[in-house]
Amino acid sequence: PDFPYTRASSSFSAVAQLYTRSSQLDTAEVRHRRFRDTPPWCHFGCDAFESVRYIFTRCPAFSAIRRAHSIQLCDETSSLLEGKAADHLREVLERAAQRLFSDDAGLWPQYRTRFYVGVLPPLARIVSNMTETEVGVLPPQSHGMGNFASGNAGVLPPQLDSTTMEPKVLSRLAQVWHMHSIRLAGRIWGEYKRRARSLSAVPSDIVTYKSLDTYAYLLPDV
Ligand SMILES: [Zn+2]
Repeated sequence: PDFPYTRASSSFSAVAQLYTRSSQLDTAEVRHRRFRDTPPWCHFGCDAFESVRYIFTRCPAFSAIRRAHSIQLCDETSSLLEGKAADHLREVLERAAQRLFSDDAGLWPQYRTRFYVGVLPPLARIVSNMTETEVGVLPPQSHGMGNFASGNAGVLPPQLDSTTMEPKVLSRLAQVWHMHSIRLAGRIWGEYKRRARSLSAVPSDIVTYKSLDTYAYLLPDV
């Protein structure tokens, strides 16, 4: 994948591997569908299918991790934009940062967050929508920000008013958001594996799930 990094740490490359293979993450729902060797429900007692998406975005077992990363992301976003963007724009981007790890119709093109596969919401479009509605007509120039949200077909070429926000600031913001997204994904997955392992080491008194096959048609496609 083509990411806007010049420095790569070993943890980054480990996480990059994680999400490039994310269609193969072996959550209970995935294992149930593929191998039939486990019930599809969340390991941590939730009344939900344990899909990849569920683990990363919804399962309360990881909400403390999500919250901690979200706070860090918001702090970094605020200090990055301090004095670098018009007030209204800064507010919009700070609100977006708060919701980066959640499903949100105003932020994500198809409502659902995709942070855990390294995809960002269309940042440039958020900014250009703002400047169109609040500042008026923009000059028809493009600053060529690169494909910082690779894989996201919803990204429009940025057309930024230079008095509002510098393209390099927006680009830096995208890097920060992306880095936090993959860090959080890596952290949740590591924690998931650790906890799932310790659960399976204990003899379980779970009821038998033979009858579940009857309901296989209810399973979501991931
Ligand atoms: Zn759960």
